Amino acid sequence: MMVAARELTVQGEMRFDEPMSRHTSWRVGGPADVFFVPASIDDLAAFLSNLDADCPIFWHGVGSNLLVRDAGIRGVVVSATKILRDLERVDDQLVRAGAGLPCTQLARQCIRWDLGPSEFFAGIPGTVGGALAMNAGAHGGETWERVAVVRTIDRAGAVHERLPADYNVAYRSVRGPANEWFLEATFQFDPDVTPSMETMKSMLERRKTTQPLGLPSCGSVFRNPPDDHSARLIEAAELKGFRIGGAEVSEKHANFIINRDNASAADIEELIEHVQQTVLDLHGVRLLHEVRMVGEVTP
Ligand SMILES: Cc1cc2nc3c(=O)[nH]c(=O)nc-3n(C[C@H](O)[C@H](O)[C@H](O)COP(=O)(O)OP(=O)(O)OC[C@H]3O[C@@H](n4cnc5c(N)ncnc54)[C@H](O)[C@@H]3O)c2cc1C
Repeated sequence: MMVAARELTVQGEMRFDEPMSRHTSWRVGGPADVFFVPASIDDLAAFLSNLDADCPIFWHGVGSNLLVRDAGIRGVVVSATKILRDLERVDDQLVRAGAGLPCTQLARQCIRWDLGPSEFFAGIPGTVGGALAMNAGAHGGETWERVAVVRTIDRAGAVHERLPADYNVAYRSVRGPANEWFLEATFQFDPDVTPSMETMKSMLERRKTTQPLGLPSCGSVFRNPPDDHSARLIEAAELKGFRIGGAEVSEKHANFIINRDNASAADIEELIEHVQQTVLDLHGVRLLHEVRMVGEVTP
């Protein structure tokens, strides 16, 4: 029998009206009706299969690419990062990683295993699942260049094996079967490429000098347009330091918006729209969001 999320019996934890500001790197976002932390994959599958068919489901990684609006998320947010942390070397090229594993951990272990190129994963401060959903990339590497196969779960709790050919993958964009979420990926590395801890460390050092890493942000707000950089266009529009409410275009990296002083999601969204409009008026280029915006606007 299908029942409302709040009435389901689970082994994991179900939190009601959970502030999403606790689960986003921007530190903003209103409450999720239900925030579900499953105890196991079986618990997750049972929960999904018993849930009302019309209950919206939103999958959460660690919220490093999410703007959750101030009135929060209706329906269920699934946070399965704790139970999807496996990391296993399958053979001399393949590594199986759970969707909840931090990308930095994947990078470090692959370097220890001498499997490259894997250093770029250290530049992505999210989970493997988030990187799969975003085709996250850094320092010239992209997640889906390395995917051999993924495992997913659907709304009925059924698990599927999917190949890259089942997805339409582009720069920071992944389209695949609807209503399926990633449980794990098997990545294929190149036995002829030796990764280096030093290279990874110098990539991270470079980030410290070019990005406002101590302050709440979501990394790059906009995708880069073809043959150009959003940061260059925003800087040329003299928007560095521009503020709306508590949200500010970073002085250090123009494609970052920081939560400078108790910003609301509405402040950040308004600033995003202002940057977009100013760059369009000045350069004739429409910047597209890299960050995902979810949830309801306060009435
Ligand atoms: C300081 C900083 C620097 C950053 N630098 C980079 C960078 O260099 N390159 C880059 O690409 N990104 C960068 N980002 C953005 C972000 O880290 C990536 O987009 C990351 O992949 C998001 O992962 P997450 O686990 O936080 O996902 P979330 O932000 O929680 O979710 C992002 C999207 O993925 C979906 N999702 C998450 N898990 C799953 C799953 N298991 N199955 C299906 N869908 C799922 C969510 O529904 C959502 O649509 C940066 C962010 C910050 C804060």
